[in-house]
Amino acid sequence: MGHTHALSGAAVWLLVAPGLAALPAAGGLAGDLAPMVANILTPSELIAGALVCAGAAMLPDLDHPSATIAQTFGPATWVLSKFFNWVSGGHRHATHSLLFAAAAGVGTTLLAEHYSIGRDIVVILMIGLALRAIGIGIPDKTITSALINIGLTAAAFIMFRSRDVEYLWLGLAIAIGCLTHVVGDCLTERGCPVLWPLKHRWLLPWKIGIKTGRAFEVKFLGPALSVVVIGLFAIRLMPASL
Ligand SMILES: [Zn+2]
Repeated sequence: MGHTHALSGAAVWLLVAPGLAALPAAGGLAGDLAPMVANILTPSELIAGALVCAGAAMLPDLDHPSATIAQTFGPATWVLSKFFNWVSGGHRHATHSLLFAAAAGVGTTLLAEHYSIGRDIVVILMIGLALRAIGIGIPDKTITSALINIGLTAAAFIMFRSRDVEYLWLGLAIAIGCLTHVVGDCLTERGCPVLWPLKHRWLLPWKIGIKTGRAFEVKFLGPALSVVVIGLFAIRLMPASL
């Protein structure tokens, strides 16, 4: 379900951010990451990163035009979702693979390097997807929900801008978000074509087979993930001296 994916995206970003920030010190290939991750742990960049990663964790399901997520920004995201569905050959196909995660990450990095407008559109889309996924909106009120979301997304975007968030890590957060989604879906009964275009569907680990939307996810996994995300935010944003 949507919010499980979004919450795990935020949690994974908050978990791996210190590791990513430490990577350039290792030199070599990891050293190339240095400019991307230099500010990754400052409070506003960290919050923006967690939001973008949460939104990116919803991206693979844009191949499903009837999903709530496809209605985030009304017709704009619906059309995008129709396109994803057509390109990827239906739900849980190409967008649920390592190749898609890598392509989305590299594509976003190139886009952001060359076009600041493109970068801003990606950021806005990701914030919107994240807010929608965690349940911002009114059930069955598509247009009202889209308007509320647009307002909150704009507020978040303007706030990040006023704090000079640079999004140098944007592609990285997109790739990690998509990967988190794929791993999450591999825990469910249908699995994912991780090595697409190979058709084999992968399940992890050994067919736990969580059924989406069932009691376990709604009553336990969702709340537990919320607690993890809030806890991680607290740990990461708290000054070390406390
Ligand atoms: Zn999925």
